Parts: sequence; C-alpha cells; structure tokens
Amino acid sequence: MIKIGCHLSSANGYEAMGRDALSIGANTFQFFTRNPRGSKAKVIDPEDVAGLRSLMKEHDFAPLLAHAPYTLNACSAEARTREFAHLVMEDDLERLEYLPGSCYNFHPGSHCGQGTDKGIHLICELLNEIMRPQQSTVILLETMAGKGTEIGGRFGELKEILDHIKYPGQAGVCLDTCHIYDAGYDIVNDLDGVLDEFDAVIGLDRLKAVHLNDSKNPFASHKDRHERIREGSIGLEAISAVINHPRLRDKPFYLETPNELDGYGREIALLKSLYKDA
Ligand code: FE
Ligand code: FE
Ligand code: ZN
Repeated sequence: MIKIGCHLSSANGYEAMGRDALSIGANTFQFFTRNPRGSKAKVIDPEDVAGLRSLMKEHDFAPLLAHAPYTLNACSAEARTREFAHLVMEDDLERLEYLPGSCYNFHPGSHCGQGTDKGIHLICELLNEIMRPQQSTVILLETMAGKGTEIGGRFGELKEILDHIKYPGQAGVCLDTCHIYDAGYDIVNDLDGVLDEFDAVIGLDRLKAVHLNDSKNPFASHKDRHERIREGSIGLEAISAVINHPRLRDKPFYLETPNELDGYGREIALLKSLYKDA
C-alpha cells in the first residue's frame, strides 16, 4: 500500500491531525512543530499525543514528518539568528520524543554571501550541538530549489553536511519534487538519471521522505512555488512515475500543495488510483 499523507494544521492538537488524516484516506502526515514563523511551541498534552499514537497503531500509519519553521536559518551570518535556530530545533527534538521514530525535516538555510562552504560548516556545527546519541527522531535535510544563497539546491551539498555530523545514522534527506525540478534536476524527462545521481552522491538509503508537489514555475527556475498535483509544470505523468518508481515506491509521500483538507483528499484519492500494486 502507498504511504501517503499531506501537510496538516496542528491548530487542534495531535489526535485531531490523526483524525483529519484518516478522514481523507491518508496513513501519515506532516505538520509544523510550531507556528511556521518560529514562535513559542504549545505545551505538549501527553493525553492528546497518546490518542494520536494509538490511532496510528490501529491504522498502521507510516512515521510522521515534523517540519521545522521555515524561517530558521542555521547558517545565517548573524550569531543571534543561528542561536535562535539552535534553541528552536533543540526544543523541537526534545518534544518529538513524545512521538518516537518520527522524522524532523528542516531547510538547511541560506549562507547570505558567506559562501557555500562556510554555510555548510555552520549547519554541521549546529547539528552537532543539538543531536543526541539516544534520539529516536531522524533529522532530514530538505532538497531546496537553490533560490538566492540557499544551501541544498545540489545533492552534493546535502551529502557534505551528512558527512560531517557526528551521528550520521540519525540523519537523512527529504526530497521535494517541486524543489529539485526548480533546482534543475529533470524528473520529467529523466527520472532514472536523477535517481541514479541521487544514489551516487547521497545514497537512496538516506532518502527517508518525499514531498510530493507540482511546481508553478518552469524547469530550473530556482523559484520554489508549489502547485497542485497535475496543475503545474511537472504534470501528472511525472508525478505518477515518481510514486511508482521501484526505487521510490516504498518511501512515504507527503503533499504540500496549495489545498485545504478536501483538496488534499481528492489528490490522495487520485494518487492511490495511480499507484500500481507491486
Ligand atoms: Fe520544506
Ligand atoms: Fe517541501
Ligand atoms: Zn517549497
């Protein structure tokens, strides 16, 4: 069975997200650990989390994907901004132990003119400060569109980070279809080639999650604007090839398309209908 879900609002708590997921035929989901702008996180209600966990067990959910606020910048030139990313990510990881075995995805950051090497160094430094040997959460670096001075637009940059953190077994990559297409990896005309490159540079065993999005912009535009499934430049045929590819079909897929719950439900139904039983 395909592992598929979408980004859900955490406004009504954890168990409510599980119920929302079930209501649209999902068997996993993504959520922001706190307001995407990075404000203070809500206090964890153990009963609410327990409710979600039993529901996940009953319905055989795939691991959840927690997304860090996208405004964090772990490789900012400003020490204060890096310190803020440190505090938020450390706190998120602590709280995620309430949902053991989840993944925690973050945008590597923008080096803002310091250069890619310096940026990567700062990201590794921060990760090495917050990772703990006993952590059950797997930290994921998201593939980015390569907008401005963003790090993570090339697979090699993510590999460089993975190579310099102290617990590499606790880290992996989240591949975003919109972002890599925007970054210049042609998943429409050469999905095999892109996956071969990912495997050669990073290793497909390090790929723990796929963000499934179409793109509002043409190939290699370095823009990062998500579009609904089949309404963008990637198109339905390529998205179908992604979910059915032998090297990807067992990975969990998370939609981050511009939709409300009912729209996500329709996309999940469509993708399920396109998923070929192995
Ligand atoms: Fe993201
Ligand atoms: Fe994404
Ligand atoms: Zn994006």
